[in-house]
Amino acid sequence: MPTSVCPECDEEVYVDADAEQGDRIICEECQSDLIVVGLDPVELDLSDGSEDSFDDDDYEDDEYEADRY
Ligand SMILES: [Zn+2]
Repeated sequence: MPTSVCPECDEEVYVDADAEQGDRIICEECQSDLIVVGLDPVELDLSDGSEDSFDDDDYEDDEYEADRY
């Protein structure tokens, strides 16, 4: 079973082997609502409603224009 790292708590998260991009997963560690944003390797991001995604391209606020980590 593929694993990835929770962007919220940095714990390992198990992802279904047949997960697809856009699938939502709940982190068992911190109960964050995560979304699968990549499959090779599996990447997870916080889903909307929580913290900002640092990969969010459609964020239009000037303060967030520069790359953030
Ligand atoms: Zn977590």
